[in-house]
Amino acid sequence: MEKESLEIKLSRYMDAGFPILYINTFEEKKASLCIEESAGGRDILEWSYAEGLKLFKNKAIVEEAKGELARFPFTSVLEQLLTEGLYDLEGKVLVFKDIHHYVNIPEVIALLKELVVKINEGLDTIIVLISPVIKIPPELEKFITIFEIEYMGFQDIRQEIKRFIEMQELPKVNDALLDELAMAFKGLTKFEIDNLLALAYSDDGELTKSDLKVIFDQKKQMIMKSGILEMITVKETIEDIGGLDNLKTWLKRKAKVIKNINAAEAFGVDMPKGVLIAGVPGCGKSLNAKAAASLFEVPLLRLDMGRLMGKYVGESENNLRKAITMAEAIAPCVLWIDELEKAFAGISGNSGGGEVTTRLFGNFLTWMQEKTSPVFVVATANNIMALPPELMRKGRFDEIFFVGLPNKLERQKIFEIHISKRRNNDLSKIDIAELVEKSEGYSGADIEGVVKDAIENIFADEKTALTTDDILKTIQNTHSLSEIMKEPLEKMNKEYKDRKFKNASK
Ligand code: ATP
Repeated sequence: MEKESLEIKLSRYMDAGFPILYINTFEEKKASLCIEESAGGRDILEWSYAEGLKLFKNKAIVEEAKGELARFPFTSVLEQLLTEGLYDLEGKVLVFKDIHHYVNIPEVIALLKELVVKINEGLDTIIVLISPVIKIPPELEKFITIFEIEYMGFQDIRQEIKRFIEMQELPKVNDALLDELAMAFKGLTKFEIDNLLALAYSDDGELTKSDLKVIFDQKKQMIMKSGILEMITVKETIEDIGGLDNLKTWLKRKAKVIKNINAAEAFGVDMPKGVLIAGVPGCGKSLNAKAAASLFEVPLLRLDMGRLMGKYVGESENNLRKAITMAEAIAPCVLWIDELEKAFAGISGNSGGGEVTTRLFGNFLTWMQEKTSPVFVVATANNIMALPPELMRKGRFDEIFFVGLPNKLERQKIFEIHISKRRNNDLSKIDIAELVEKSEGYSGADIEGVVKDAIENIFADEKTALTTDDILKTIQNTHSLSEIMKEPLEKMNKEYKDRKFKNASK
């Protein structure tokens, strides 16, 4: 289904008499253009701190910055408009920019409310607020509808690149590179794409494959600046995981679907939703999230649940919506939600959990349930007991895996991986079986730690090779995870067995 454009959406809401429309964007210019398009012949009265008041009729400026008002504080502007009748507000769209600086001033809230009352009593005026951040005081919440400028789709980005090449008279690029560039730009706004194109061609006067790296680096920053998502560079592959064979096989099968998504869909395969990986700390949960992205050959986005929570009404929900919209714009991708229990702990049944957390959780569940976009969610959690049971119901995740302490064979693999990574030449002389015997109850992170410490020790002792004894010595000086967390681990293991979660290990 074709998505409704922002212009059309705005004009529908204007015609329906919604009093305050809030456009959340830093692309002011584009927002202004959309408002002009959707105003349906109404005059537009626009105010910004930099330019003061301007009156537009039929898209042309007919009056600029009435006298002193150009530099007046926003409160005075509102007062003059509202109480002193500076303009006839009937049939006008009032556009206020950079509103986040003013919206928590009591006078501003009161004046906006007064205006809304007049609108509700019949005044034909629409207020449009434009701001790069969402800040809504509770008093105005029910009068405001939020809009966002949407990300461009793949084909539109392709067109935009072509337009840019023609406009700048750059050498043409082939279709394959055009596709790669368009893919790399997914998740950015038109404004950001234009800026990056200018940056990319400025070094050698053309767009080449080497510009992809510049684009990815900048894109990482732009995503980070937007606040809640982080794009992670993945070096890890599925080969870096020792053991967890059931989970690895499962991921490999999903990779077949995700890498051939069009053929799979045509065949009748549903879009994979994602996986919840729960269990013991340091046993490869994060490693699996990263390996999934490299296996699927898609970007990895990490969602920081802690940063989702905002202090204004609706801010947290909007942050979640924004993160989801961005992930869907970048898709296909892996969306990694780390420490899921931190975000949704305490919500269960009809008790506990703050109102915001409960609403946030509801929104997340609905999205997971209805999701058809190729955003593959990898949620990781240490303590599944803290998670609300609704999350575990069918239809949310494709599967839930439990990751426990590595068994003998897995410890052998993990030792081999970490020794060969650092001292490949010494591997054949090391008695791995002996190390496996002595490391019962060790997590993958414990084993990595032991290997790292042993290598650092021999370097400090100016030895030339790593031996079994060197590693055994560090094992003796290490307290394993199962020693430190004996009771909680036993409780957790029982819980996973009772709930019949799939074991990630064979
Ligand atoms: P936490 O819950 O504490 O975040 P986690 O389960 O996500 O832990 P990871 O971050 O994946 O654990 O693992 C920590 C480190 O331990 C990894 O960087 C990796 O080097 C090593 N490690 C853990 N499990 C394995 C494994 N199965 N194979 C190889 N290395 C492992």
